[in-house]
Amino acid sequence: MNTPAPTSDFDQQHLWHPYASLPPTYPNIVIDRAEGVYLITQDGTRLIDGMSSWWASVHGYNHPVLNAAITEQLGKMAHVMFGGLTHQPAIDLGKKLLAIVPKGLEAIFYADSGSIAVEVALKMALQYQVAAKRPNKQQFASTHSGYYGDTWHAMSVCDPINGMHSLYGKQLPMQHFVAAPPLGFKHHLTQSERDELTDFFTQHAAQLAGFIIEPIIQGAGGMRFYSPEYLQLLRELCDKHDVLLIADEIATGFGRSGKLFACEHAGISPDIMTVGKALTGGYMTFAATLCTRHIADTIHQSAYPALMHGPTFMGNPLACAVACASIDLVVSYDMPVRAGEMQTLVTQILTPAASIEGVQEVRCLGAVAVIELEQAVDMPLFQALLLEHGIWVRPFGKLVYIMPPYVMTKAELTTLCEALLKVVTSYLDKAE
Ligand SMILES: *Cc1c(COP(=O)(O)O)cnc(C)c1O
Repeated sequence: MNTPAPTSDFDQQHLWHPYASLPPTYPNIVIDRAEGVYLITQDGTRLIDGMSSWWASVHGYNHPVLNAAITEQLGKMAHVMFGGLTHQPAIDLGKKLLAIVPKGLEAIFYADSGSIAVEVALKMALQYQVAAKRPNKQQFASTHSGYYGDTWHAMSVCDPINGMHSLYGKQLPMQHFVAAPPLGFKHHLTQSERDELTDFFTQHAAQLAGFIIEPIIQGAGGMRFYSPEYLQLLRELCDKHDVLLIADEIATGFGRSGKLFACEHAGISPDIMTVGKALTGGYMTFAATLCTRHIADTIHQSAYPALMHGPTFMGNPLACAVACASIDLVVSYDMPVRAGEMQTLVTQILTPAASIEGVQEVRCLGAVAVIELEQAVDMPLFQALLLEHGIWVRPFGKLVYIMPPYVMTKAELTTLCEALLKVVTSYLDKAE
């Protein structure tokens, strides 16, 4: 149990990992294979996966239905250009998406990753405002604590303090930021909170092409949950001021928040919506930007009728085929019920962590749970404890959080949460 996890010298010397230095401050663990809810290291240690590989692998790993979908498509063609050509997997996926997304969304752009889907959403909004003859609407707004990806303009709307703004400074386009939505899914907005958002629109809306937000759950910007009332107010203000509401459902989409899409909690439809991550069940990189017929038509009727984006691997057939199979599975799960059961169990086991010294707060919503510590996690120490307890969780900063695969059994979820509770307890003991 206490043998060191397998690592690679080559990896440490040559391969960059996400948000990491080269060489890294501590080595990456070599994973040999994965099946169901287990990651299996090169020396055969089995770790229960609490991360779904960053919100993506919602059906666990090596899933027979997803494997079959991708293998069958591979036998026909791995890829074909989307310029001038189309194919059945792209058409089937389009139909499946339109059947489940919030109503009003009717046009789809297939992108190659979440960040690119956000770039496309921003370009779409700008082209729309130009086409609608509102040439002053050229900027974007967002709240603090948001995260929308790592490409240039996606980065420009991320939280301006925790994000990467200071590093890239003046080269990033200037956007507008309002305070983060008040914490708490069940929170009722106070009059002064309403006024703050309303005043922000009065002040800036003349320059705004769109307002981008992660509905209900702010992910990588702080793992914060907020009230549907906030989204409803935002929808009203966007309508009133001709600002497009862009909902980034890349993390929340496909059931994570307890609804298929988090916008459903507020009963609103966005003008533009991005999906990614769990879209392919975590099998490959793929994303989509959806918009209303009105936006598509307005761009179509302008002097520049084409939407000016076109990735080489747009509409990749393997990705479309596996996404079709993944959506069928998600729909078959009855997500509100399944996420509700996960929330109940996780809340029950993890809530006691709130009384441990060094823990700030424990919060759970849908199939997401967060233990916020008072101090940033010492990763090498924390990671060693995780491996000792046979689980895989990847904290950032003060946030220790899980978003397990939906297929996790009650027994596996109990093991994961009980082990995490032990890890946090013994970590805070040692970190003192
Ligand atoms: C992960 C994420 C992105 C970026 O997606 P990538 O596929 O990593 O480019 C954008 N928005 C949200 C809300 C995300 O969670």
